[in-house]
Amino acid sequence: SLNGKTAVITGSNSGIGLGIARELARAGADVVLNSFTDRDEDHALAAGIGKEFGVTARYIKADMSRGDECRALIEQTGGCDILVNNAGIQHVAPIDEFPTKKWDAIIAINLTSAFHTTAAALPEMRARGWGRVVNIASAHGLTASPYKSAYIAAKHGIVGLSKTTALETAEEPITCNAICPGYVLTPLVEAQIPDQMKAHGMDRDTVVRDVMLARQPSKQFATVEQLGGTTVFLCSDAAAQITGTTISVDGGWTAL
Ligand code: NAD
Repeated sequence: SLNGKTAVITGSNSGIGLGIARELARAGADVVLNSFTDRDEDHALAAGIGKEFGVTARYIKADMSRGDECRALIEQTGGCDILVNNAGIQHVAPIDEFPTKKWDAIIAINLTSAFHTTAAALPEMRARGWGRVVNIASAHGLTASPYKSAYIAAKHGIVGLSKTTALETAEEPITCNAICPGYVLTPLVEAQIPDQMKAHGMDRDTVVRDVMLARQPSKQFATVEQLGGTTVFLCSDAAAQITGTTISVDGGWTAL
């Protein structure tokens, strides 16, 4: 059980981050939810998780595109034992038309934020004598597709950052790994469907089957509960010697 551990999950008021927060709470961890908004519903989401699983659940606003706010999230948490770097955005366009602002935002949120949160969390983990860093990369951290240059660069980058973090903590009771999901039906993926329909000139069902799940041999989306379960496993004693690697949850995508 993760009783007494505190987990920070970046970008966790929706989708995979929320699913991971719920599974960590189910396993007994106190959780800190995060996004860049500060709405009543964000705090209510945390309160609901706290009530459902009998843990302490808080929501802390921090914009993961800003280094100072990434570090402040860890400081405000006070004693982060489990850090899940999950916040992420996507933009689909050919490289020669890719807006520089989108490139910069994707690199900042999907990659650089993990540098800042990890840098802030490691001293606390060392002081407390235990730690887990779980970076949510992607099948696109190991393979590429056209029109997603910034995302794929950031995801390959976070796989590299995970390996380096693992080596710098190798002799300590701290591990760092990257989870590489294939397609998971979340708001982020839902939002890509119209762009993909336009780019490929296809209807919705054809995009889902022939574009999105074309490379997912199982022909099924992975679920947020499965990603939460994988994260809980990486936090378990069984996973204490698993560090500096990637775990694919992709229905066979990277076996192709
Ligand atoms: P989502 O859009 O549902 O969730 C993204 C989360 O990040 C939200 O909570 C959002 O509020 C938060 N976020 C966005 N910008 C932020 C910022 N500036 N500061 C703080 N939080 C911010 O998407 P998702 O599908 O759940 O994606 C979560 C992670 O999983 C991302 O890193 C994504 O790249 C990765 N991923 C998703 C899939 C998939 O198929 N859905 C596959 C592989 C990897």
